[in-house]
Amino acid sequence: MNYALITGASRGIGKAIAIRLAADGMPVIVNYVSNTEAAEQTVEEIRNAGGKAETLRFDVSDPKACEDALEVWQKEHPDDYISVLVNNAGIRRDNLMIFMQNEEWHSVLDVNLNGFFYLTRRLLKDMLTHRCGRVVNVASLSGLKGLPGQVNYSAAKAALIGATRALAQEVAPRKVTVNAVCPGFIDSDMTASLDKKELKKLVPMQRFGTPDEVASLVSFLVSDRTSYITGQAISINGGLC
Ligand code: NAP
Repeated sequence: MNYALITGASRGIGKAIAIRLAADGMPVIVNYVSNTEAAEQTVEEIRNAGGKAETLRFDVSDPKACEDALEVWQKEHPDDYISVLVNNAGIRRDNLMIFMQNEEWHSVLDVNLNGFFYLTRRLLKDMLTHRCGRVVNVASLSGLKGLPGQVNYSAAKAALIGATRALAQEVAPRKVTVNAVCPGFIDSDMTASLDKKELKKLVPMQRFGTPDEVASLVSFLVSDRTSYITGQAISINGGLC
């Protein structure tokens, strides 16, 4: 059976993606790092709707934790493989560059960028062998245009977009596609502390997007209908450029 692994699927955009892909008929693996209750809630919602889901806890920024978790999963699923990987787990630690601490820089690069590297490298082997795979990286508007106060986050997401474009060319002959989605402001825990009233004035659609709207785009990108779309960074931002 082919599985979809969605990192950071206990909450927010990742949760919506897991629910959507399960509704599309894929068994999903709900990754998270600390919030077990929220991850189990995601799985319960999927199962109650008739889908198939399981949790898999590991820190995407820890290469050994990624490797160990996937090894255990593979042992428990000898006849299955992960054909869809959504690198969604992300954090932000905003600060002006002049005040930015080493920890704020490194933690954001570790989760948003290095996590993509550890997991994708590991899971590509099976996708290439089966000549079938979809990788979707959740980047950001911040990685396309750069946002003040987010030098660390903009750098990580811009690098993720560059890696998406390069990797797509490496694996295209084996029918594996690699794309990025670049959300603008989306309602989630990550944006809960922002001044929404002010920020939505910047958005031509005058509102934040929903996690479900991002999930619809990811659902399309991992479907059979997108076999000729690869190496793209697709914006979903209500017109905010
Ligand atoms: P969120 O609500 O803060 O959720 C973050 C998710 O990532 C949680 O499931 C969390 O797990 C998980 N996570 C964090 N660090 C992790 C780690 N080291 N290993 C594994 N999982 C980890 O964030 P969100 O708004 O849904 O954002 C999802 C993605 O979209 C991120 O990549 C973010 O950068 C990107 N994005 C968001 C927006 C926006 O406006 N919200 C805009 C552009 C891009 P726990 O529950 O266990 O903590």
